[in-house]
Amino acid sequence: MKDDLPDYLPLSYLNQVAFCPRRFWLMYVQAEMEINAPVQEGILRHQNAHDPGVQKDEHGRTLRSVQVWSDVLRVAGVADFVEEKDGRLIPLEHKRGRIGQWVSDHVQLCAQAVCLEERTGTTLPYGEIFYWTNRRRERVIFDDALRQKTADAARLAFHLLEQGTMPHPLDHPAKCRDCSLEPICLPRETLALLREESR
Ligand code: SF4
Repeated sequence: MKDDLPDYLPLSYLNQVAFCPRRFWLMYVQAEMEINAPVQEGILRHQNAHDPGVQKDEHGRTLRSVQVWSDVLRVAGVADFVEEKDGRLIPLEHKRGRIGQWVSDHVQLCAQAVCLEERTGTTLPYGEIFYWTNRRRERVIFDDALRQKTADAARLAFHLLEQGTMPHPLDHPAKCRDCSLEPICLPRETLALLREESR
C-alpha cells in the first residue's frame, strides 16, 4: 500500500481512526460497511444536511455542506454546517448518539476547524455537535490537547496505510458494542485466537 498512499484522506475517517484503528482499516481499505438501523438513521439525517446553501436568521448565517480541506492534516471533506456569528465561524456537526460518548466525534469536528482556519486565516475557538438521541448541543473547545489528538489521528491513519497491515481488534467491549462493524470484525473471536497463538 506504500506506493499507493492517497494525498488526502476523507476527513470523516479521522473519526474512525480515533475511535478504533481497525474500524478505520475495515472501512477505508476494505470498504466494509454494515447498514444497521442506527447507521441508516445517520445516513438519512445527513442527507438533509447535504444540500449546499445558506440560511439567515437574526443571529447570523448558517452555511450548509461546506467543502473544506487541510494541507497540514492532509484531509478533505464536507462540513455539514458552518455558523457565522459576530464574524466568527463555528462548525456544527449533527450526530446520532449521545453527548460526550466518544471523543472521536470531537476529533472530526476539530479537523473541520483546522481546515476552516487554513482556508480563512482565522482561529476558531470552538465548535458544536448536535446529538439527535438527546437532542442537545455540546460545545467542543478546540484546545491544544484536542488539536494534538486530531493531528495524531491524521498521522496514525497515514502510518497504518503505509504499514499495510490490519490493526488488531481493541479490547474495549463498550466501543465494540457501539460499533456497526462488530459482526465483520469479530473482536472477541480474533483476540481469543491471537491469545491462543501467542502461547
Ligand atoms: S468491533 Fe471493536 S475492534 Fe472491531 S472495528 Fe469495531 S470497535 Fe474496532
